[in-house]
Amino acid sequence: MRQLLSLVVPFYNEAETIQVFAARLLPVLEAVPDTRWEILCVDDGSADGTLLKLVALAQGDARFKVIEFSRNFGKEAALTAGIDAARGEAVIPIDADLQDPPELIADMVREWRAGAEVVLARRIDRSTDGLLKRKTAEWFYRAHNKLSKTHIPENVGDFRLLDRKVVNALKALPERQRFMKGLFAWVGFRTVTLDYMRAPRAGGMTKFSGFALWNFALEGFTSFSTAPLKIWTYMGVAGALFTVAYALFIIVHTFISGVSVPGYASLFVAVSFFGSVQLISVGLLGEYIGRIYVETKQRPAYIVRQIHQVTDGA
Ligand code: UDP
Ligand code: MG
Repeated sequence: MRQLLSLVVPFYNEAETIQVFAARLLPVLEAVPDTRWEILCVDDGSADGTLLKLVALAQGDARFKVIEFSRNFGKEAALTAGIDAARGEAVIPIDADLQDPPELIADMVREWRAGAEVVLARRIDRSTDGLLKRKTAEWFYRAHNKLSKTHIPENVGDFRLLDRKVVNALKALPERQRFMKGLFAWVGFRTVTLDYMRAPRAGGMTKFSGFALWNFALEGFTSFSTAPLKIWTYMGVAGALFTVAYALFIIVHTFISGVSVPGYASLFVAVSFFGSVQLISVGLLGEYIGRIYVETKQRPAYIVRQIHQVTDGA
């Protein structure tokens, strides 16, 4: 009995890499013993001919199935759509740019068959990612794992193997804003980690630059931790204690040396400092309330325009 496994590949303006991706991927898949594969390519609203190339690929090879979004919904939505549509006994999300080496798939399947429910792929070398991205990623994981009870493993991307049990657990999570790395970690299950070297992109450019990554990190924090909301209570208590102490000091000081005219500077500093603290905390409340607002609208995480696939008799 050959097992059906699913690959989920998000594509956003990856026309340059499709050919090399398929050429390197297929021999690797064929070499994994006792398996059949379905390759779910999610076209996330590309504007560069990615869709045409994917459809051409799917027309010549029944293993490929193309899920075409009605617009760009982002990588998290693309992964969600692929995982929703996957029929395999295990599902492997993988980037289209060959930064996740397909060769690791054989090892993942081996670990899975040996009993692992999740097989993580950890990058031991991220030198292809640029110093700033590496450092900010490191700070994000460190801060996130301090603040949240859900531990997100460091240097692990979306490239991993998920057993059917894990996939079903993920599909049962109702939230619309899906920070996949966090959700993957949250569902738990028996996990094994493999190491690999992160390759440079096979072509094209990264879709995640400064501000996109910042928003992504914010999404991660607010989806999995309410600690940032709670800090302000302690800040408020500390500020109040300080104010009481300072008031006592001023009273005593006035008794001893009379009323002193100077003090505008310190007043101004105190007023603007606490003003900013209040603005930050109001902004933070806004971040959470904004997310509550989005969730309550109950909109789907993505919209499919069309599914392209040649019938494979299944
Ligand atoms: N991607 C996507 N939708 C987006 C942005 C990216 O489907 O809005 C896909 C992209 O095509 C690639 C994967 O997500 O397959 C990872 O993107 P990228 O390589 O740009 O991220 P990086 O590796 O630089 O973090
Ligand atoms: Mg990449």
